[in-house]
Amino acid sequence: MPAEPLTLPHTSSGWNAFIADGADSALDAARDVVALLTDGTSRTPLAVLELWNDAEARVATASGFTSLFAEVHPDAGVRELSEVKTQEITAFLTERGQNRELYNVFAAFDASELDAEAARLLDHVLRDFTRSGVDRDDATRARLTEISERSTIVAQEFSRNIRDDVRTLRLRSEQLDGLPDDYRDEHGVGDDGLVAITTDYPDTVPFLTFATDREARHAVSRQFNNRAWPANDPLLHELLDLRAEQATLLGYDSWPDFDTEVKMIGSGDAIGEFIERISDLAGESGRAEVQTLLKRAQQDDPTITAITVGDGAYYTELVRREQFGVDAGAVRRFFDFDRVRAGLLEVTGRLFGISYRERPDVPRWSDDVTCHDVLRGDERIGRIYLDLHPREGKYKHAAQFDLATGVSGMQLPEGTLVCNFPRGLMEHSQVVTLFHEFGHLVHHVLGGNQRWARFSGVATEWDFVEAPSQMLEEWAWDADILRSFAVDADGVPIPADLVARMRTAEDFGRAQRVRTQMHYAAVSYRLHRERPVDHDAAVAELARRYSLITPLSDTHFQAAFGHLEGYGSGYYTYMWSLVIAKDLFSAFDPQNLFDAEVAARYRDEILARGGSADAADLAAAFLGRPYSFDAFGRWLEGDN
Ligand SMILES: [Zn+2]
Repeated sequence: MPAEPLTLPHTSSGWNAFIADGADSALDAARDVVALLTDGTSRTPLAVLELWNDAEARVATASGFTSLFAEVHPDAGVRELSEVKTQEITAFLTERGQNRELYNVFAAFDASELDAEAARLLDHVLRDFTRSGVDRDDATRARLTEISERSTIVAQEFSRNIRDDVRTLRLRSEQLDGLPDDYRDEHGVGDDGLVAITTDYPDTVPFLTFATDREARHAVSRQFNNRAWPANDPLLHELLDLRAEQATLLGYDSWPDFDTEVKMIGSGDAIGEFIERISDLAGESGRAEVQTLLKRAQQDDPTITAITVGDGAYYTELVRREQFGVDAGAVRRFFDFDRVRAGLLEVTGRLFGISYRERPDVPRWSDDVTCHDVLRGDERIGRIYLDLHPREGKYKHAAQFDLATGVSGMQLPEGTLVCNFPRGLMEHSQVVTLFHEFGHLVHHVLGGNQRWARFSGVATEWDFVEAPSQMLEEWAWDADILRSFAVDADGVPIPADLVARMRTAEDFGRAQRVRTQMHYAAVSYRLHRERPVDHDAAVAELARRYSLITPLSDTHFQAAFGHLEGYGSGYYTYMWSLVIAKDLFSAFDPQNLFDAEVAARYRDEILARGGSADAADLAAAFLGRPYSFDAFGRWLEGDN
C-alpha cells in the first residue's frame, strides 16, 4: 500500500494541536516500544528491530517537523511550542541512549540470522548505545552525563558570545570609497561626522570586498577577527578539555578518533593526512594566484609585500572585474525568481526521471510556500514544500529540513527547502545555492523509500552529506541548462560567452581559497587533537603552514570560529565532500549533463540508497571503481 503524506492543519488554530499531539503521540509510541522490548518476552531479533523501527520512524518524523516549524512558522507561539517539543524529543533520546536494560536486549542477539541490511541496522543501534557510554560503569556514566550537560552549556555560551559581540568602527566617509552607492546610502554620517561599520556580515563582507582604503580595510578586518575575544578563550579551552575527557572515558585516544569513527574518513589521523594531501594539491596554483593578487596590489602601492587577510577579498574581486569583465548587475537580469524556480523543477525532473505536481489545495504554513507531489510515472514517491522568501521570524540561512522521514509502505518522505531569496531578480550565486539545497531535498525524497528509518534519505556519513548537494551545483553553471530558464525581460536567454566568463571569474582564486579552508580545517583538527596551551601561537603556526594569505597582527579569529562548536574537529568535511562531489561528477559527460543512463545510475546507486550502505561503497557502485582524488586535482588545476 502506498504511504500517505502528513495532513497539515487547514486552519491557523489547528497548528498547536498538530505540533503537540504529533510530538506527544510519537513519544508515547516510542516509550511503549521501550517498555515492550524490556518486558522480558522472548522475541526474534527481526521482530525487535521492526518494533524499534516503528518507533524510530515516528520519532524521526516528529523531530523533523518540530525542528522545521520552530524555524519557519509565522506564529511565534507555534515556533515556541515547536522548540519545547524538540527539547522533549532530545531528552527522550538521551535517556533512551543510556538505558542499559534496553541495550542488553540488542547486545544479546545473534546477528547471523539477519539479512545484511538488518544486521547493519543492529550494528548501528549497538554503536549508538556504546558511543553514549551505556556499557560503562555507574561512575563513568554519571561523569559522561555531567560532561554532556556542561558541554552543552559551554557550547551555547561560546556561540552566544559570537552572536552577541557586535563591534562598531567609526570611519571617515572618504574611507568608504569604492563601496557601491546603495551601501553608502545605508551607511550615513552620524552626529560625530563619522560612519559606523559593524562586524555584521552585511557591513563587513562588502567593505572587505570593495573598499579601496587599505588601512580602513585592515581596521575592519581586525575588528571582525577579534569578535568574542577574549571572552571565548577560556570557554574554548574548557570545551576542548571536556571533549577530550569524554573521548578518553569512552576508550578513544582523542576527540577526533571518537568523532571520525562514524564518518567516511574513518580515523583521526586521516584528517591530518587529508589536510596535507589537499594542501599539496593546491600549493602551486594557489601560490601563483596570490602572486597575481600581489602584483595587482603593488600597482596601487609598490611597498606592499604581502596579501593579508584584509586584502584577499578586495584584490580577488578587482582581478575578476578587470581581467574577466563580469558585471554582477548585468548577470542578475537573467535570473527572475519565478522562471528560476520553474527551471529548477524542469531540470531536476528531467535529470532524475521524476515530475512534480503542484498542490495548491494542500494546507501550508504561509501563502509564500508552494507544495508539490513528487511523481515517478504515476506513482507518488514524496512531497516537497518550497519556502523560499524571507518572512519575519523565519530562519535566516538556506537549508533543507526533513518534514517526514520516509519508510516504505509506512510513511511518505517529505522535505522542505527553506531559503531567503528575493521575489524579483536573483544573483547567480543565489541560483547556485538553490540548486545546492535542492540536492539535499532530492536526496531526502529519493532516498526515502527505505525499510529502516535509520537509513532513510540523507542519513549517510556526515562527511558525505554535502557531496550530492555540491554536485548538483554544477547544473547551475552549465550554459545550455541556464539558457533553458535564464531569460531576461525581453526574452533573451543568457549568452554562452557570458556564462563562460562567469565561470572563469569564479575559478580565479580557488586554489588559494582551498588553502585557506585547509588552515581552518587544521585549526579545527589540531586544537582538538593537541589541545595547545597557547591557542594564538598554534593558530599562527598553522596559518604559516597552510594559508597563503598573511594574518593581521593582534587578531584571534579562533574565538569567533563558530564551527569549533558545531563541527568540532570535523571542519574538513566540506572539502572532503567536495572531493567526492568532483569525482561523482566526473562520471557525467560535460557535453550532455542529462545523459539518461548516468543520471539513472546516480539516482539508483547513490541517492536512492540513503544510508543503507557505507558511502564509500555507494560511490564505488556508481563509479565502477573506488572514489579517488583525481577529478578534484584536475579541477584545482583549472580543468573543468
Ligand atoms: Zn549543503
